[in-house]
Amino acid sequence: MSTLAILGGTPVRREPLPMRRTMGDEEKRAVMRVMDSDKLSGFFGSPGDGWLGGPEVRGFEDKWASRYGFRSAITVNSWTTGLMAAVGAIGISPGDEVIVSPYTMSASATAILFYGGIPIFADVDAQTYNITAETIRDKITPRTKAIMVVHIFGQAAEMDAIVTLAGQHDLKVIEDAAQAPGIKYRDRYVGAIGDIGGFSLNYHKHIHTGEGGVLVTNDPALATRCQLIRNHGENLVDFVGVDDWTNMIGSNYRLTELCAAIGNEQLDKLPGLLAHRQRLAEHLSRRLAAVPGITPPKVAEGSEHAYYLYPFTIDTGALGISRSAFVKAVNAEFPTAGHWEQTVLVEGYVQPLYLAPLYQRKIALGRNGFPWQLNAGETYDYSKGICPNVERLHDNDLVYTPMVREPLTIGEMDQLADAIEKVVAGARSIASHAA
Ligand SMILES: *Cc1c(COP(=O)(O)O)cnc(C)c1O
Repeated sequence: MSTLAILGGTPVRREPLPMRRTMGDEEKRAVMRVMDSDKLSGFFGSPGDGWLGGPEVRGFEDKWASRYGFRSAITVNSWTTGLMAAVGAIGISPGDEVIVSPYTMSASATAILFYGGIPIFADVDAQTYNITAETIRDKITPRTKAIMVVHIFGQAAEMDAIVTLAGQHDLKVIEDAAQAPGIKYRDRYVGAIGDIGGFSLNYHKHIHTGEGGVLVTNDPALATRCQLIRNHGENLVDFVGVDDWTNMIGSNYRLTELCAAIGNEQLDKLPGLLAHRQRLAEHLSRRLAAVPGITPPKVAEGSEHAYYLYPFTIDTGALGISRSAFVKAVNAEFPTAGHWEQTVLVEGYVQPLYLAPLYQRKIALGRNGFPWQLNAGETYDYSKGICPNVERLHDNDLVYTPMVREPLTIGEMDQLADAIEKVVAGARSIASHAA
């Protein structure tokens, strides 16, 4: 057995991992086309044709919608604002409860709070890391109005069971598909299998426009409401003609023509980028399945996986070392990362959201416990222990790598698997070294 790099042995790899290169000649030409037009935004926040944006925005929206079979796509300047628009559009009002995963980017839950809704956290499945109909069911109360499903790490959640459950209780379903663009659940693309959902176009996502997002829905009324919230709806309600006045304050969530032009080109690249990630991940999973103490991600029947990140779990009891010792030892088999993109392994994902000070103190807006204080007599429990699977994954079991992406190759997946195998085989030497 070769000596581990962390104990002075030869590392598996000495060369830094290559960085992603996301913008090509196509995007440069698209940006120049907009520059030459001098119309960097086509939006007007008042009655008239400009309320839906300029030609690049509309072209990008049409292309996204038709490519993935959604009735409408509505661009926004981030997916955080997209989530806020979705929560507003479905009519969440102060004091309404919305069930959401605690194992997600903070915005999935804070979007609910922006409309005075109360996030209620359901535990995730220990193998898919997604919330399920089973974990959601227990959290439904007479005040529940919606479910926010997050397709975490890029794997589609079990939408059939969730949509059926929602139907039984008259709940809306929002899909946070930020990490799963172009991914199917059974024969449909995620995003609008529920009522409304969408995608992030921030720099870290599969495709990006710097910042940006896309809402998708098959419900024309929800589409119009999102368009109003995106662009100063209060100025447009008469012009557009709305009957339901719930949440009709708008904002400015508009995407620029420059970003839309870039998005148009990036969208063409999405299928190739996804296929590459899936090929790398499937290879890595085959290798890791053979390593004792390591469990590669389980892709559930009927779901596809976009591998925004590649998560897996480790059995620290079987390995005989702590998760942090394992991660440090594997990372030592590669050069020190100069940039987050060159990171090899990371422990856990985000802290379970309910442990953040916002939930511990139950104050979102103002000073008086808004919105929790609206439901007098109701106790909302955000204490440690409410979602044991999430906590165990976060504290002990889950490790992820961002390496499953372009421009990395099967060769680098083999190096990662070699490094993991080496550390698992040499775990005893780390333990005795530490003793
Ligand atoms: C990235 C992300 C967001 C936020 O998207 P932005 O475009 O950065 O605002 C929300 N939810 C999830 C799950 C994400 O990964």
